[in-house]
Amino acid sequence: MKKILLILCFATIGVFGVYAQKTEKKIPDTHSTCNEQRYRRTEIILPQVNGYNCYKADLHVHTIYSDGDVTPRQRVHEAWYDGLDIIAITDHLESRKYEKFMLKAHAPYNPDGKAYKYHHAGSVRLMKDGTDAGIRCDFNATFAEAENYLKTTGFPLLLIKGSEISRNPFEMGHFNALFLKDVNAIYNIDAKETLRNVHKQGGLVIHNHPGYRRNTTDKSEWQAEVYAEKLFDGVEIVNGTKFYPKMIRRCVEENLFMIGATDTHRPTSGQFKDFGFFRTMTIIFAKENTEETIKEALLQRRTIAYSGGELMGEEKWLTDFIKAAVVCKDMGVSKKKGSTYHKYALINKSSISYSLRWGKAVSCKLDPFESVVVEMLEKDGVKRGPSFTVENMWHIDYQHPQVTFPISK
Ligand SMILES: [Zn+2]
Ligand SMILES: [Zn+2]
Repeated sequence: MKKILLILCFATIGVFGVYAQKTEKKIPDTHSTCNEQRYRRTEIILPQVNGYNCYKADLHVHTIYSDGDVTPRQRVHEAWYDGLDIIAITDHLESRKYEKFMLKAHAPYNPDGKAYKYHHAGSVRLMKDGTDAGIRCDFNATFAEAENYLKTTGFPLLLIKGSEISRNPFEMGHFNALFLKDVNAIYNIDAKETLRNVHKQGGLVIHNHPGYRRNTTDKSEWQAEVYAEKLFDGVEIVNGTKFYPKMIRRCVEENLFMIGATDTHRPTSGQFKDFGFFRTMTIIFAKENTEETIKEALLQRRTIAYSGGELMGEEKWLTDFIKAAVVCKDMGVSKKKGSTYHKYALINKSSISYSLRWGKAVSCKLDPFESVVVEMLEKDGVKRGPSFTVENMWHIDYQHPQVTFPISK
């Protein structure tokens, strides 16, 4: 009997032992939360316009190598994930705000408590008395860092070498130099000479934020001379969220291309997307995304600016753009209380919203990748075509373009 009890006892222990082994939880060393932690690019879908692709560009941004808060590699990273195809990093040519902090941080540590010593590489800020401090650091380094990072990522982004020439904002202003070969070689204490140096390298010059610390109505004497000498190729009609409507007339009259750019100094996250918009950008109409084709498109003034859901530029490009983005179908006629209405379906095949108006009290917002049916009242027996005022588009003299959509079968 004792023997049997003993066997039963061991058997029970054995069974529980196996059970305990089976239910023991394996605890991993690391548990990764959020399996889908990959970065997501915002895809901005825009139409083909007159046989050209729409490339999205930000041609004015800063990094820690002047007075921006992020590195060149971060500018490349965010440009790609913000949905851009082209970026120009344009650090200030005359000042490097963070230089002294960087040098201080990289100074040797003295454990004996002595004050750190660092060699000042030489700020290139123009002296107040007009003395020329000259170039003492490599302004091509920013581009090189961004380019190296771009190669490691493989992003099909076009990176343009640039710089912002930043002079007295009241008399002269700030100017972006793009498509440079050697940023160091453009510097001259005489601002006009600097602009000429940009052209000598085959670069283009943009008159930046023309409303910064002065109004855009009149040119200063210095600016009048520079415009007359044709040292500007384009104008930044939108800087961040500031649109300068009067500059459109100047661009049209003087054959200058128009751009919209962020001029961002901080990370773009939290600035634009968080308010429901894409970052401020220039839409460039070109066949391919290469330095030559983009430069040619700018010189031919095939651009429109985008900022905060609004589009600005030449009337022709605005109307051609929306006609390519929106498909219009005839939906027949309806009769209500003795009135005749012509119905049209509007299908938005782009990532941009359009605010359409066709009467004092009748308007509609056509959101991305949605369609709406609008009813247009017949007047005096005449059929109303699908004609609208596009209220989130602006062309010369602060006017909205009028568009009549072709009927698609
Ligand atoms: Zn500036
Ligand atoms: Zn700037």
